[in-house]
Amino acid sequence: MTLSEIQRTLEKCGTVPTRSLGQNFLHDQNLARWIVGCLDIRPGDHIIEIGPGLGALTEFLAAHDIRLTLIEKDGRLVRHLEERFRNATTEVLHLDALDYDLRQAWGKGPVKIVGNLPYYVSTPLIAKFTSALSPASRLVLTLQLELAQRMNATPRTKEYGAMSVCVNRRWKASYLRKLPASVFFPAPKVDSAIIALDRRPADEVRPLDEALFDSLVRRGFSERRKQLRNLVPELRPNWAEATAALNVPETVRAEELSLAQWETLADIARPSAAQSGAEMFDVVDENDRVLRAEPRDVVHVNNLLHRAVHMLIFNARGEILLQKRSIWKDRNPGRWDSSAAGHVDSGENYLEAATRELNEELGIEMPGLERLGKLSPCEQNGWEFIEVYRGFHDGPFAPAPMEVETTAFFRKEDVLAWAAVSPGDFSRVFLLCLDFL
Ligand code: SAM
Repeated sequence: MTLSEIQRTLEKCGTVPTRSLGQNFLHDQNLARWIVGCLDIRPGDHIIEIGPGLGALTEFLAAHDIRLTLIEKDGRLVRHLEERFRNATTEVLHLDALDYDLRQAWGKGPVKIVGNLPYYVSTPLIAKFTSALSPASRLVLTLQLELAQRMNATPRTKEYGAMSVCVNRRWKASYLRKLPASVFFPAPKVDSAIIALDRRPADEVRPLDEALFDSLVRRGFSERRKQLRNLVPELRPNWAEATAALNVPETVRAEELSLAQWETLADIARPSAAQSGAEMFDVVDENDRVLRAEPRDVVHVNNLLHRAVHMLIFNARGEILLQKRSIWKDRNPGRWDSSAAGHVDSGENYLEAATRELNEELGIEMPGLERLGKLSPCEQNGWEFIEVYRGFHDGPFAPAPMEVETTAFFRKEDVLAWAAVSPGDFSRVFLLCLDFL
């Protein structure tokens, strides 16, 4: 949009830019086109724009064959956006983007996120849209210059902080370009910059207890000038060995550690348990009678028939709890799955395994599980007899750090529609469990 178009549209909407909403409207069309180009849009993508304002970026987004979700907090601008852009594939939400329900974004095509963000709320917006529940593969964001520099900062600089470390663990931040304040109306007091965040593939992300990592980093940076050993008491007993492993002095401060060193520290605080190959499963015949016990690896490599359980947990609203499997799982990494699932260990029965898995994966005690049925072994379910159970629980849950990326309740009809369009988002066995919903 040009400056005069912006002024005319504001007049038509009967409004003036509101500073408390971070309203600075982009009036450089070449830049707007350039920002949208950075999304690398493909047909069928689902683009979510945060704070579309009067539509400076939206008009270039709308030229693509995509699904578009516009989230705008200012009701006066929402009416204008609806008139100008709403159609069968473009949804305009009058909403604080912090309240956007990320579950809605699943199952509507590959998600990318764009926004010239309102500065007063950029940090929580980034935290939300890069969280474990976010389906996005790429974000292109205009931020206050200082924040953009923090996202991309290196150790031993004043910009380097908890945000730099935590976001970069899962996302590769790229600084794209600086924007002078003069390209916005009204011009803000500070310059801006555009960054891209790209989701790192699983083989670039070191397996770790994510919550512990975040907590160590945040505490470490909470008082930058303090020596780190005073901020992470759980590491004090072996601080000498820990700092030797990192090759840093014992007096090290948070801002001196690289991402890889923070990861090593989190590993020292709680060593990651690799999936064990020593578990023993009962091998069964085609009538599910136990033949003998074999180690997990032998069972899987030889496609031997064995046993597993899947549990479907519902809340009081009838929604089903799905778990997103950890990206480090050897099977179906990063996919959505039943509330909990697992193998029946040798010597265990199905119900015992179901109860144990719910405790291990979700941290809940669940007496009174109801058996819904049984799946027969096939290639799709990894040659398992699978008993499926139902239970009722409203949480809270304590998902196992290394096994479960996140959990969320979804409406049954949304899950069925989502699985119909994006079956690849789910574990192959869960697709077989859909009949039990
Ligand atoms: N994208 C437009 C542009 O480039 O001209 C507007 C950018 S302006 C910097 C930020 C926009 O975000 C404004 O339209 C403002 O009303 C909207 N906004 C502010 N807070 C918001 C929030 N919490 N959720 C959604 N939109 C918000």
